[in-house]
Amino acid sequence: MARFWNFSAGPSMLPYDVLNQISIDVLDWNSTGISVTDINHRSKYFEIIYNQAESDLRALLGLSSDYCILFIQGGGQGANAVVPMNMIGMNGINRADFIISGYWSYKSYLEACKYGDVSIVADNGYTTKIDCNDYGPYTWFPENKSIKTREGSSYLQFCSNETINGVEFVDWGDIANSINKDAVLVVDASSNFLTRVLDIDDTGVVFACAQKNAGISGVTIFIVRKDLIGNALNICPSIFDYMNLFHGHSRYNTPPVFAIYVSGLVFKWLRRNGGVKKMESNNLEKSRMLYDFMDSTSFYINKIHPSVRSRVNIPFHLKNDLLTNIFIEKAENRGLMNIRGHRSVGGLRASIYNAMPIDGVMDLINYMRDFECYYG
Ligand SMILES: *Cc1c(COP(=O)(O)O)cnc(C)c1O
Repeated sequence: MARFWNFSAGPSMLPYDVLNQISIDVLDWNSTGISVTDINHRSKYFEIIYNQAESDLRALLGLSSDYCILFIQGGGQGANAVVPMNMIGMNGINRADFIISGYWSYKSYLEACKYGDVSIVADNGYTTKIDCNDYGPYTWFPENKSIKTREGSSYLQFCSNETINGVEFVDWGDIANSINKDAVLVVDASSNFLTRVLDIDDTGVVFACAQKNAGISGVTIFIVRKDLIGNALNICPSIFDYMNLFHGHSRYNTPPVFAIYVSGLVFKWLRRNGGVKKMESNNLEKSRMLYDFMDSTSFYINKIHPSVRSRVNIPFHLKNDLLTNIFIEKAENRGLMNIRGHRSVGGLRASIYNAMPIDGVMDLINYMRDFECYYG
């Protein structure tokens, strides 16, 4: 069986051990004679799967009892509506603020605008360059000390890793300290969740769709500070109300049983493989190898400010853009799949999440070196 390196930004590679376990459980889960795909969500079997997944994730994050974990449907973009519907009214007036650092935070902002008075308080290109499809502006993160929330604003949302633009920002402690006391931070960590240690204690909510580092599509993981629950707008669908999800253990209605099960397997795999700290050092090493190589030549270009270069999504382009299609085609011939950049920015992108081993990154670098030798 041929297995290729999948550099896709999502859905992305799952660890082989996880795939193997799935292949067994799809036919017969835990010697019950039942497939994991048709386990009832109110059964004792799912109770076991759910509780184990939750406690493994708690352990991985070292999560304090102030926070709960909710598994919600609707993906990362669904979260862009779930958050305002639950939180924008927390201070009585429907107001929230955003930091824009790229494609995803901008999209989150646009969605939130449907629910109240939403404003951009800092950005790295939006106001200077309205065209959000331009690769140029989103190459740094706005100056932290200047970031404030407006009077009465319930939360300040940003994206900790811009999956498309390759801008990663995790030092949010200063921002947490400088915003108004009645506002909390909301972080879209869809693409760097579990890839490095994140300061969840400084936030109100962290969310991440599962299909990057925490499983398959169909479920979004929310880490919610418990005291923020119970503020949903009347228009919020019952299935998306934090309160219903919290009291129903993410089972107000039928949850994505299979997706939660896969997330549970990924959490177990992470615990067996050294946890989040170990992932952080792996990802640092993998990304360093790739950036060091790119910086050593002018043939490949990554324009992101070195202090916020993503460790997991590495966009780059060829000095000669005309070679991009050939680069992709030849990469596929060597088993290096899905390195085309997002349709909105073009170029190339290597997503090297937790499940991508160092060998995969080395194969990519060797290929890039060969390609440059031939065409450079
Ligand atoms: C992938 C991604 C999303 C969108 O996720 P969907 O599940 O496709 O809606 C949102 N934000 C970020 C940062 C992402 O990487």
